[in-house]
Amino acid sequence: MQKTDVCIVGAGPSGTIAALFLAKFGINCTLVDKAIFPRDKICGDGISGWVVTILNELDKDLLNRLTKQPFLLPSFGIRLVAPNHKSLDLPFLEDNRTGSDIPPGFIGKRFDFDNFLIDEVKTKKEIELLENTEIIGYSKEKDGIRLRTSDETEIYSRIVLFSNGANSKFMQDPGGIYKSKSHIMTGLKSYYSGVTGFHEQNYVELHFLKDILPGYFWIFPLPNGLANVGIGLDQERIKKKKLNLKNIMLEAIETVPYLKERFKDAEMVSRIQAFGLPLWDGKRFISGNHYILTGDAASLIDPVTGEGMGHAAISGMYAAEQCKRSLESNDFSANFMRNYDKQVYNRIGKELKISSKIVHFIKYPWLFNMVVNKANNSSLLKEKLTLAMTDLEVRKELNNPLLYLKILMGK
Ligand SMILES: Cc1cc2nc3c(=O)[nH]c(=O)nc-3n(C[C@H](O)[C@H](O)[C@H](O)COP(=O)(O)OP(=O)(O)OC[C@H]3O[C@@H](n4cnc5c(N)ncnc54)[C@H](O)[C@@H]3O)c2cc1C
Repeated sequence: MQKTDVCIVGAGPSGTIAALFLAKFGINCTLVDKAIFPRDKICGDGISGWVVTILNELDKDLLNRLTKQPFLLPSFGIRLVAPNHKSLDLPFLEDNRTGSDIPPGFIGKRFDFDNFLIDEVKTKKEIELLENTEIIGYSKEKDGIRLRTSDETEIYSRIVLFSNGANSKFMQDPGGIYKSKSHIMTGLKSYYSGVTGFHEQNYVELHFLKDILPGYFWIFPLPNGLANVGIGLDQERIKKKKLNLKNIMLEAIETVPYLKERFKDAEMVSRIQAFGLPLWDGKRFISGNHYILTGDAASLIDPVTGEGMGHAAISGMYAAEQCKRSLESNDFSANFMRNYDKQVYNRIGKELKISSKIVHFIKYPWLFNMVVNKANNSSLLKEKLTLAMTDLEVRKELNNPLLYLKILMGK
């Protein structure tokens, strides 16, 4: 049986970033993944400002090297398309934490991005990477957790980070997080070549089609003339309305006039693949005796945008900090681990809470149409919506029905 201080189950962004922070602190860990890298992860491939911020906190040089990778396309804003097909372009504001030479966001295939992080992991003597190793079970022991692998070996660890993504069974046991269908989004994605009509600054595009609100259809530009094209909606609505997301996506491309025009010379270059997104649905414990949940396994995805990589990165960083505290003070109790929960929620709790409320406004097509129409004619409203992406106080206003009444009355 192998023994370690920290074992990280899953080498997606949350697991690798936790491992890299641990290495920075001089702490040894074992990072286990069932896949052999490079491997794909079904995703929209949008790498938000949070990822950039956390990599900057981890290692400026690593971030600089990342931004020069040819697989990344810098993105400077977002295009929202209302159900009436009117669009609104909002620039991402510069992040003064990372310096103005670093673009505020990127789009890059997860196949390459995750492998970039794994390559970094492989340079760290503190990290033992075990690929092709699935963790299939666990048992709690007095001083740690015993993990069982698919090849019938065991790893005994004083702290375990469960970082194994949306389908993690550890989210429920030991995590105690049970999700309802209304808080699990199904997302479908495929790659296309030849899509036209992108913003010159590579804006990511969310198209709010009437039949799938508050879900959306997305088109994210990628390098080399490719695009990540997908659609997502919560499983409760899919079931209730008996929707076939794949058909809706393909039909929209073929029949919605402005999409038909943009896809007229496009070709699908990969098959359509689906995966779940555990949307945040309220504050819960995301740690316990000798363990921590991170990223999707902690259900930290933004319920409006479906963005999860940034929150995965944040939780990875704080999980590593908690490991350091626990090892230094020899305290692995659930009570002490809660410092991790506090750090995560202090950083993103407010943002998640606001998003979970905004989702209720997005389901009304007329409201969405009205806001986009008005914002296109009012620089003040447009500025407010731009600010809302980074300023939580402004974003909170989007929660207030009075704001929409004011917009309706032209104030
Ligand atoms: C269709 C779709 C579109 C999305 N679009 C975006 C987007 O554009 N931007 C964004 O920020 N987020 C997006 N997300 C969410 C994003 O993909 C996740 O939030 C993010 O990958 C979470 O990172 P993670 O490290 O927690 O888990 P993951 O990236 O899922 O990594 C988990 C790792 O654990 C490994 N693993 C699983 N089980 C085991 C096991 N038992 N033993 C060992 N290893 C295991 C897996 O092989 C994997 O490598 C999207 C998700 C979907 C499904």
